[in-house]
Amino acid sequence: MSRTLEQVLADGIRDIPDYPQEGVVFKDITPLLADHTGFGQVVQALAAAGQDDDGSPVVDKVVGIEARGFILAAPVALALGAGFVPVRKKGKLPAATYEESYALEYGEATIEVHQDAFTPGDRVLVIDDVLATGGTVEACLRLIRRCGAEVVGTAVLLELSFLPWREKLASERVTSLLSV
Ligand code: AMP
Repeated sequence: MSRTLEQVLADGIRDIPDYPQEGVVFKDITPLLADHTGFGQVVQALAAAGQDDDGSPVVDKVVGIEARGFILAAPVALALGAGFVPVRKKGKLPAATYEESYALEYGEATIEVHQDAFTPGDRVLVIDDVLATGGTVEACLRLIRRCGAEVVGTAVLLELSFLPWREKLASERVTSLLSV
């Protein structure tokens, strides 16, 4: 019997306390990735954020945010018949890039995208695993818009509802499969 999406997510995402530092509960999705039917259900559910009500794709590109976003976004792109674009941490992309920085609890992080990753007017779906403060996705959306592309929405596996991502992304279309 097939499991519900809720069951798949409950089975496949585990809490690792105090990783990578004390006080953080890390959401580990590796059990989900190892469950091929569950992974397939999750990919279909994320892909729905890039489809209209009839199930037709409405995106040209799917962005994956390094690193776990890559694993989820690539099969979503294939499911939607769209291209895949990596958004990476600074210094990892080989051609000319745009970069955007955002605040972390201690310090700052920078992400990049290739300047020629999009055709102007491309419709883009952004995929990541976890939304916490929302800083990473917010910077990613700035990158995409700098390239002249249009953000259709953002889809994540999991949102941490006790963190203030909603304020940062108030005007954005955000889909999360699970809220904790
Ligand atoms: P933020 O920019 O604060 O929304 O953080 C989102 C990014 O950090 C995502 O790319 C996640 O992979 C990662 N992240 C933040 N918090 C967690 C967590 N508790 N468990 C796993 N990944 C996390």
